[in-house]
Amino acid sequence: LVAQKADKENVKVFAVGGFIRDLLLNIKNHDLDLVVEPAAIPFAEELNKMLGGRLTSHEKFGTASIVLPEGIHIDLVTSRQEFYARPAALPEVEQSSLKNDLFRRDFTINTLACSLNSPGFGKLIDLFNGIGDLEKGLIRVLYNLSFVEDPLRVLRAIRFEQRFGFRLEETTLSLMENAAQTRVLEKVSKERLHDELVLALQEEKAPEILIRYFTLNIAPMIFPGIRLSDALQERLFAAREMCYWANRNWPDTEVVPGNLYLAALLLEAPFQEARHICRRLRLPQKQREPILAAVEAVPRLKEKLLANALKPSELYRLFSGQPVETLLLLQADSKQSRIWESTALYWEKLRHIQPHISGHDLRELGFKPGPGFQEVLSHIRAARLNGEVKNREEELAMAKK
Ligand code: ATP
Repeated sequence: LVAQKADKENVKVFAVGGFIRDLLLNIKNHDLDLVVEPAAIPFAEELNKMLGGRLTSHEKFGTASIVLPEGIHIDLVTSRQEFYARPAALPEVEQSSLKNDLFRRDFTINTLACSLNSPGFGKLIDLFNGIGDLEKGLIRVLYNLSFVEDPLRVLRAIRFEQRFGFRLEETTLSLMENAAQTRVLEKVSKERLHDELVLALQEEKAPEILIRYFTLNIAPMIFPGIRLSDALQERLFAAREMCYWANRNWPDTEVVPGNLYLAALLLEAPFQEARHICRRLRLPQKQREPILAAVEAVPRLKEKLLANALKPSELYRLFSGQPVETLLLLQADSKQSRIWESTALYWEKLRHIQPHISGHDLRELGFKPGPGFQEVLSHIRAARLNGEVKNREEELAMAKK
């Protein structure tokens, strides 16, 4: 459809970047990046009339994006205009304006383009030997100052390296080590860093990516004060296992793996530091809260759980109000079966148990409404949890006492 529209509107359109990379790797990709000559926005408007998606344009940058209901994203950028100043050499002009666009990209494997116009539909354009690097499994920057120009590429390189099981090409690796030494990542805005971290944490190989941040000495700029210990590595891998486990066994519970990985990391820092890092990373409150709750609670709960066998009512009191992250982090942090059993018992059973009787029943029994109600009901719930009362009648009898 895009190709037909391109011909009809008489514009040159190339599919570029991750879409082509993934096509060659035989990986599904729902984001289509298009380079459009001479202008992306009018073409995006025409295209969207046909597709009926949600269109956003940025006049200043000459870019547009279309989001389709099926979750497909189409990003359109305008190819650099300055090369049109030489109309006499049109074919080369066309090549060089695309080249200019591709040269601004991060790694050779992301510079592949494919013409969508006919004739020549589907012609692969490989100006920087991206195919060679895809075949060899290499992440390679296009020029030596790449990481200095945009230090965020350091993190992107690690994300792609781990996602595809590729290697950092030798020069790229030494440029990256240099970038780590000179702490260039500190120049990246906190917002961009946050966005990249979100993407990294969504990866299947997020634990490996985080560990790579440490071994490449980039972590101090992201998680200052945290050191990579064996316990941390184990906890990160265990956190991933716990997410799989929870998805299988607790299908009604939403577990965000990234929250668990961050909590697993922050458990290495004193609480105040952990809070500071969350702020630095610009984590929104909704994400910060469960992470910090887990970081604060896990050492305390672990100690209590391992010290004594607790009654169900005591477990309830211990875990009540804790987010699922706390329970999973406890499990990831300790292989003790008592911890495993207690957390599963609470989440699957205990937290759903309520007394049969209500405030209404208490009123009928002559209790005066007030804070005492809650106390009586909690008492009855504890008795129920411990199996000391089994039905409504027994609960009423207990309330009377
Ligand atoms: P993903 O599968 O993670 O979406 P992607 O390669 O499609 O991978 P995007 O972040 O959507 O990644 O970027 C689209 C394209 O834009 C990339 O393929 C790359 O060519 C280019 N790009 C993105 N970020 C940068 C950057 N920081 N520096 C240079 N080029 C970049």
